[in-house]
Amino acid sequence: MTGGEFDIRPTEQPVSAAERSALLVNPGFGRVFTDHMVTIRYAEGKGWYDARVEARAPIPLDPATAVLHYAQEIFEGLKAYRTTDDGVTLFRPEANARRFRESAARMAMAQLPDELFLGSIHQLIKIDREWVPTDPDGSLYLRPFMYASEVFLGVKPSTEYLYVLIASPVGSYFKGGVKPVTVWISADYTRAAPGGTGAAKFGGNYAASLVAQAEAIERGCDQVVFLDAVERRFVDELGGMNIFFVYDDGSLATPPLSGTILPGITRDSIITLARAGRRTVEERPISMEDWRADATSGRLREVFACGTAAVVTPIGTVRSADGDFTISNGRTGKVTKKLRQSLVDIQRGRAEDPYGWVQRVL
Ligand SMILES: *Cc1c(COP(=O)(O)O)cnc(C)c1O
Repeated sequence: MTGGEFDIRPTEQPVSAAERSALLVNPGFGRVFTDHMVTIRYAEGKGWYDARVEARAPIPLDPATAVLHYAQEIFEGLKAYRTTDDGVTLFRPEANARRFRESAARMAMAQLPDELFLGSIHQLIKIDREWVPTDPDGSLYLRPFMYASEVFLGVKPSTEYLYVLIASPVGSYFKGGVKPVTVWISADYTRAAPGGTGAAKFGGNYAASLVAQAEAIERGCDQVVFLDAVERRFVDELGGMNIFFVYDDGSLATPPLSGTILPGITRDSIITLARAGRRTVEERPISMEDWRADATSGRLREVFACGTAAVVTPIGTVRSADGDFTISNGRTGKVTKKLRQSLVDIQRGRAEDPYGWVQRVL
């Protein structure tokens, strides 16, 4: 199958309009879900089949299902936005489709064709359109994922996969405005090593990051920053966000895509927007010593993290076993603010989109 061949079975028990409105008032993140889901199956020799849009429901799993044992699982994350004229748009969804295929390739999984990935998103938004928040800070977070569904305990790539798409209305990530966060530099744990799975959006990367994130919370920090696994010197990324440095000459730097960091679509968009604003953006390794020295000397003016969920998050304080330091006196810097605003304005259809990033779905 290539796309457009979805069997649509609307739920017989949709959430009432009144209940939905109540849920949309303050949905938080990832706790409220829409009425439907999309599933597509894959079997070796048969290919992709049985694409369905159906009532969102638990998925029964045989206890010997491969994913439960060997973690062959990948996911994506993107948002749908309500436009002022009541339409719905997506931001660079074909980039998510491509990355989903690349993650699948790394995990030795079947690659879902882009037209099925994009088709599933269109179908779910169409049937659950009332769940796209009208709140100008809200959006519908889309979570495509795929797991090894073969029932077999042998260690090998699964011959069967289940692709699933669910959606969750979300509010503003920052209640009461964007606030700088404090980060913890993990000395004991790394996220990804050369040759490993760091560039794939693979659930296991998150499982491996949780103990370091818990340590960050214990130290009074919001997020953990991982260093490279070889020298434990160079900044890789946060648990689920890429990182940017802004210098006193207006230039930016961000760690290069060397295989250990996730190639963020927000990261790529920020690089494009900064360069369009005539800023130099270098993709180069940034050491912890330089980060501290440049923050202390004042050459480093701003640092921010970025990703789909929170878009752009300023970093105000850095905490590590070697002591703390602050950046831009713990405030949100001007460049951070401006880049965040430019990106959000394009995503929300409030600014021109010269890159063709925004796609109208409905
Ligand atoms: C998803 C993700 C990001 C951000 O990617 P976006 O495409 O910008 O949302 C960054 N780091 C990790 C580890 C991620 O999983």
